[in-house]
Amino acid sequence: MYDYIIVGSGPAGCVLANRLTEDSDASVLLLEAGGSDRRLIVQMPAAVPFAYMRKDLGWGYQAGPEPHLGGRCIDEKRGRVLGGSSSINAMIFNRGNPEDFDGWATLGLPSWSWSRCLPYFERMETFADSPSEWRGSSGPLKVSRCKADFPIYDDFLRAGEHAGFTVTPDHNGRTQEGLHIAQAYIGDGVRSSAANAYLRPVWDRANLHVRTVVHVTRVLMDGERAVGVEVASRGGIERIECNREVILAAGAFGSPQLLMLSGIGDPDTLRQHGIEVNLPLRDVGEHLENHPGVNLQFTTDAKHSLMSRLGPVGKARLGLEWLLLRRGLGTTNFFEAGAFLRTNPNVAYANLQLEFLPLVRYLEAGKLKARAGFNFWIDLSRPASRGRVRLRSANPFDAPSIVFNHLADSSDLRVLVDGVRLTREIVAQAPLGTKCKAEFAPGAAVNSDAALEAWVAQNVGTSYHPSGTCRMGTGAGSVVDAAGRVHGATALRVVDASIMPRTVTANISAAVYMLAEKISDEIRDKSPLAA
Ligand SMILES: Cc1cc2nc3c(=O)[nH]c(=O)nc-3n(C[C@H](O)[C@H](O)[C@H](O)COP(=O)(O)OP(=O)(O)OC[C@H]3O[C@@H](n4cnc5c(N)ncnc54)[C@H](O)[C@@H]3O)c2cc1C
Repeated sequence: MYDYIIVGSGPAGCVLANRLTEDSDASVLLLEAGGSDRRLIVQMPAAVPFAYMRKDLGWGYQAGPEPHLGGRCIDEKRGRVLGGSSSINAMIFNRGNPEDFDGWATLGLPSWSWSRCLPYFERMETFADSPSEWRGSSGPLKVSRCKADFPIYDDFLRAGEHAGFTVTPDHNGRTQEGLHIAQAYIGDGVRSSAANAYLRPVWDRANLHVRTVVHVTRVLMDGERAVGVEVASRGGIERIECNREVILAAGAFGSPQLLMLSGIGDPDTLRQHGIEVNLPLRDVGEHLENHPGVNLQFTTDAKHSLMSRLGPVGKARLGLEWLLLRRGLGTTNFFEAGAFLRTNPNVAYANLQLEFLPLVRYLEAGKLKARAGFNFWIDLSRPASRGRVRLRSANPFDAPSIVFNHLADSSDLRVLVDGVRLTREIVAQAPLGTKCKAEFAPGAAVNSDAALEAWVAQNVGTSYHPSGTCRMGTGAGSVVDAAGRVHGATALRVVDASIMPRTVTANISAAVYMLAEKISDEIRDKSPLAA
């Protein structure tokens, strides 16, 4: 019998599988619903748009109908493959703002202050740059500073300076705020996914067992104690028991869904679905956060856009160089510059993130297209709106019902509109302004408050950063304690994006790796790293 069963091989699941099996007397079974990640489109960074569009690598979820977006549904990608969403994501590496974690501490979670999280951010990475007291140099994840050698990246930074902002040398170091050259989970030209960084190097450990294409259908409970899981695989339905703990790392949608399927959740809802209540916990699936955003797009002459390097010859070269040498454009995720900015001086710290892409991408008849220009993904970093994840039915193979409630709080709409205006101000500056031909979307004519609000509401989309649905905390409103233990249960933890008490000012996966690293020490009864 295994000691630990971990459900889900995303960032959190892979960290835990690696760290728990450092103790040779502990055996771990890692279960993943998806299949192998040994695919070119997963491993080659430049193939990211193909990886996340592939139906066979994802769960195919739709969020909505969204009540504040006119009933629109949003395509919400989630990785269903070894490495979870880290095998299909955009690889942008951002830790978040120190204020985010100090904010967690003020919610009654003092062990999650920035100074206590920082050693774990350092432990998880090898940052390929000059050594610094803020960065790790021997961790499993390979993080690199993007080359950003195409001139328009620098034009963006200079335009930002002309608009009055500063360029920060390491936004994952002392100062997050400002414009920056981006950093990415890319090492030696390859995606540094959770599976590549944390699983492959320890694949041969005798105490680690990984099973893919195994869908966990519920946690087996004996009273309030978790004793194992029920799974569906090619071999049919199985019950697998464990000695010590079941750890859910199935992500912000998968973990609350599994708790509810196991009779842990709001009793009224569970009964509606005919599920026997094992543990009443009303907040399972509530408090869903996500970063909403919009694309602001501008056209340029082809020579100023990456499109000039992505013609038929350019694409062939990209593929060959990557296959033969792990070099060239195939090694980039294309998001090589960005910014963390305040939309007004009264907010305590940056509330807006920009991701800069030197081409315009858009969907036409369901197909991803590109044209010469540049694109800002404007992301609302600290949304006030909250959504929820619920069961559609007691059938574990039914997708959960997800509603983000984007723009439910009018302040979110305000910040996004201000963000569009602020980004336009940057674009108007030299040298970016002189290279810009026209605003492609929404178009310069969309300028009044009313017009911009309507455009944002029609176009707001997801940054794919769901969190908070099994929120960590000490009392009412929370699902797990500061070490991920489910309140009221024994031998059952949740460790993944779902336990974040509040989202972070960043793409969230670095925070997920960090929290799994930190909780792995708790599980192993190791003293926390020195603050
Ligand atoms: C398209 C996209 C782009 C993104 N870009 C970035 C980015 O650039 N930078 C960044 O920091 N973050 C990015 N993210 C977010 C980031 O990838 C996630 O926040 C992170 O992967 C969450 O980790 P997790 O361990 O909580 O869950 P996940 O990575 O979602 O992993 C959960 C795993 O559990 C498995 N699972 C779920 N249910 C079951 C079940 N019942 N049985 C068995 N297995 C199950 C899933 O298949 C999956 O492998 C992006 C996400 C997406 C989808």
